[in-house]
Order: sequence, then structure tokens, then C-alpha cells
Amino acid sequence: MKIVMLGAPGAGKGTQAKKIAARYQIPHISTGDIFRANIKAGTELGKKAKEYMDQGLLVPDEVTIGMLMDRIAEPDCANGYILDGFPRTIPQAESLTAALSDKGTAIDYAINVDVPDENIIRRMGGRRACLNCGATYHVEYAAPKMKGICDKCGSELVLRDDDKPETVTKRLDVYHDQTKPLIDYYGKAGVLKEVDGTKDLEQVFADIVKILGE
Ligand code: ADP
Ligand code: AMP
Repeated sequence: MKIVMLGAPGAGKGTQAKKIAARYQIPHISTGDIFRANIKAGTELGKKAKEYMDQGLLVPDEVTIGMLMDRIAEPDCANGYILDGFPRTIPQAESLTAALSDKGTAIDYAINVDVPDENIIRRMGGRRACLNCGATYHVEYAAPKMKGICDKCGSELVLRDDDKPETVTKRLDVYHDQTKPLIDYYGKAGVLKEVDGTKDLEQVFADIVKILGE
């Protein structure tokens, strides 16, 4: 099963993608997580990505597409995967479609997690991230057991640099301009499924399971 998660930054793609990956036993691939791991490790790719991420801009397609293609060529992707945060532009989607089509396959589901902009601003201001293991929390909606500490690995939780209010506004503009057209793209491909992302996160997951099957 090959799945793409669509939706604005902060819509809950990562939250749902982790649950889907665990339930259906497929790898969760987040391009944002791969960039953050590279920033943490101080690689050249990380340095380049950070310049864009800190401004709320997309990392250029030349960098992002190759990185994702390498990742989905790894053996753990043989039975499918869930992509979270890729594609984010039409050229990224076209590259993915072409690469899959060369292998006689295609994306099975593009799940759009629909959340209005007003809710997004509130969600991202309250998001707390563990930069060590990639877990994500919300101060109000998905709080860790101990304030400021990751339940999974015990590291300190942070407000991501790109979740500060001024950057969130920019990221939303970029989303509307460059990423939202993908809803139409996957609609035309006949694989688009919509879920109401304003519901409680367990309810959103239940709606997704109805789409993907038990
Ligand atoms: P994305 O991966 O789309 O950027 P996240 O999954 O990181 O978004 O979610 C953004 C923030 O909103 C996180 O702090 C997360 O805990 C919280 N969140 C996710 N889904 C819901 C939901 N259905 N209701 C309330 N808060 C949610
Ligand atoms: P995310 O963790 O998905 O919210 O992504 C964080 C940031 O990483 C984005 O705001 C972009 O700067 C960058 N990024 C992640 N995925 C992509 C992508 N597919 N294309 C371009 N930039 C990306």
C-alpha cells in the first residue's frame, strides 16, 4: 500500500502517518524529519535545507526529489510506505508518478487532512517536538506525561524554529500557493480521499481506517 498524506502544515499529517505506519506495518517517511536529522548531524544537505526551512520556504525540488527517490528505493519500502510532507509541489508529484509508473505501479491513496487556517495557527503554536526521536506532542491536545519531556525517549521537547508565529504565516502562504494544487492533482488521478482533520485525533484515525480497510 502506497499512501501520500496531504494537508496544510500542522493539519495532523505526521500524527496520523505514525499511527497508519504502525497499524499497516509500512515505513513512515517524512521529508521534514529527514531534513531535521540532517540538520542535527550537521551534513551539507542539512545546512542547505535549514536556510529554507527557517524562512518557512520549501527546500528546492532539486534537493528534495532525489533525496525522496533514494529513500523509497530502500528495501523496507518494497511493500509500500506512507509519505508525510512529500510531495509538496506539482513537479515533486510528477516525479513521483513517473518513477512509480516506470515500475508499473502508482500511489494507492492520497489522504487530505482538511483543517482551516485558523485552527492551524493554534495547533502549530502548541506543537512540541522531540528532535531526538521525532515524536510530536501538543501542549493542549496531545500533552506528554511530564511537561516538556518526551514520553518515548526522555529528551527535552522544543518549539520548532519554523513553528514560531511569523514563520507559520509564511508556511501557510506557501502551502496555499504551491502545495494545495496537489489536492486537484490526486483528485484527477482518482485516488484522493478527504478526512475532516478538525476532529479529535483518534476520530480522524478511525475515519482513515475506514478508508484504508481494517
Ligand atoms: P503536520 O505533520 O501536518 O505538520 P502534526 O501531526 O505535527 O502536523 O500536528 C500538528 C500539531 O497538532 C501537533 O502538536 C499535534 O499534536 C496536534 N494535532 C494533530 N492532530 C490533531 C487533532 N486531530 N486535534 C488536535 N490536535 C492535533
Ligand atoms: P514538515 O516537517 O513536513 O512540516 O516540514 C518542515 C519543513 O521542511 C518545510 O516547511 C520545508 O521547508 C521542508 N520540507 C519538508 N518536506 C518538503 C518537501 N517535500 N519539499 C520542500 N520542502 C520540504
